Amino acid sequence: MAREFPLERTRNIGIIAHIDAGKTTTTERILFYTGRVHKIGEVHDGAATMDWMVQEQERGITITSAATTAQWKDHRINIIDTPGHVDFTVEVERSLRVLDGACAVFDAKGGVEPQSETVWRQADKYHVPRIAYVNKMDIIGADFLSCVDQMKTRLGAKAVPIQLPIGAEDNFRGIIDLVEMKAIIYTDDLGTHAEDAEIPAELKDLAEEKRTELLEAVAEVDEELMMKYLEGEEITVPEIKAALRKGTCSVQLFPVLCGSSYRNKGVQPMLDAVVAYLPAPTDVPAIKGVTPEGEEIERHSSDEEPFAALAFKIMTDPFVGKLAFFRVYSGVLESGSYVLNSVKGKRERIGRILQMHANHREEIERVYAGDIAAAVGLKDTTTGDTLCDEKNVVLLESMEFPDPVIHVSIEPKTKADQDKMGIALSKLAEEDPTFKTYTDQETGQTIISGMGELHLEVIVDRMVREFKVECNVGQPQVAYRETITKRVDQEGKFVRQSGGRGQYGHVKVIFEPLERGQGFVFENKVVGGAIPKEYIPAVE
Ligand code: GDP
Repeated sequence: MAREFPLERTRNIGIIAHIDAGKTTTTERILFYTGRVHKIGEVHDGAATMDWMVQEQERGITITSAATTAQWKDHRINIIDTPGHVDFTVEVERSLRVLDGACAVFDAKGGVEPQSETVWRQADKYHVPRIAYVNKMDIIGADFLSCVDQMKTRLGAKAVPIQLPIGAEDNFRGIIDLVEMKAIIYTDDLGTHAEDAEIPAELKDLAEEKRTELLEAVAEVDEELMMKYLEGEEITVPEIKAALRKGTCSVQLFPVLCGSSYRNKGVQPMLDAVVAYLPAPTDVPAIKGVTPEGEEIERHSSDEEPFAALAFKIMTDPFVGKLAFFRVYSGVLESGSYVLNSVKGKRERIGRILQMHANHREEIERVYAGDIAAAVGLKDTTTGDTLCDEKNVVLLESMEFPDPVIHVSIEPKTKADQDKMGIALSKLAEEDPTFKTYTDQETGQTIISGMGELHLEVIVDRMVREFKVECNVGQPQVAYRETITKRVDQEGKFVRQSGGRGQYGHVKVIFEPLERGQGFVFENKVVGGAIPKEYIPAVE
């Protein structure tokens, strides 16, 4: 019954980045160095890979949010996949909800791009401790310090370099470790050999300057160190590390590292930093929840407390069918046992518990507090649901899902596929809380809605691949657009002219019905049955 990894040596992390920053390459290298993938590139071959959906590989984007388990220096690192495309920011959010820390990957040339800003802000919202990894140090135009500056100015982040690159572009060959004040130079192409070296003479002054900044930053998070610093006493390496950990875990500062994942440089020191500075499940605040009696309670990362977990991703797996990925917040779960889905009020049997590794899946008997795994056999569970001990019922704080912003009509290419399409759509909606499908009462059209064009394209693609239904999509028929005219009643209040099509007054406002009777979408915001005044432009 003993756990293989003590909780203190578990890290649940995500690699967050905008598309093209090198998240996939970095993840691949992590899996290579953690020893579970035997040759670089192999991650794309097996069935149980991070990017296991063909579609993702073809499109070069990561859509799913599976979790992969790796091992690094006596630590278990669960990597929760987070997609980089802006249409999938909801997927990013739900991953952020269940992870304890993240490595934010930046492009050394592009620096802080709008999408990096989006994911960074989302991580801020969930108070996710982060280390930053400035990737692509080998490309032309790579500039580590400019990237650090952009983190400070554009993201308002207290970015603290703990490394400096040695050389840049073609000449990028190693890293200065500002904590230990030593250099490492890579001596082979696979990055498996690195030599400790003297800090190159031309970089000595810069390294001293940046180390002073590092000392100032750690002194700010620890009063004792501040006293020492002010009195000119030496701050030791273990003290720096402890303070960096404290500052990172409390989201006061962000250590910045550099490397080139593609050239196999910098990934292992980054993994060392994950272990050294990102929190274990025991370092993060307890999760809040409510009991059926309405009492607010907390659940801690402890095997002794009753079982409670959050399902954060539902996937249809080609081999085992429906897979529900969940994060255990407290207690222990055994395969073959029953749990209560406290959102749905349904008792569910945990058929099997799987842990995904880079190139194989492992069936496990039990999963402990703080860990992440996938369950087979859950019928009614959807994303965001709480699974808990039947005798100790709790509803955990869940995640928020925004309402869809675009709507298109969909119909099967062959009429005979109508039912199949319906089944496929409801399955997809079960997996994805931001994807909605409904039938318009007036036109009889099936409407699907989601977070963006790409989101819906992916859905239509999956219909063909996974459910063998070919569909056509188009703009919803005109009956779907309703011109709402502005009219002022006797008391000067704006009233909605329902069904009105003509222009009224000065301004014509077009609202798209979300679902008849349920509200309207206007400027990407869902408004209630009646249109609030603030959405109606003022009369000139
Ligand atoms: P993702 O979209 O964030 O997953 O990015 P990928 O890992 O797919 O990388 C995007 C592109 O950048 C690919 O063509 C990679 O080969 C390339 N790339 C990733 N890391 C590096 C790097 O360190 N150096 C160079 N030169 N190219 C890289």
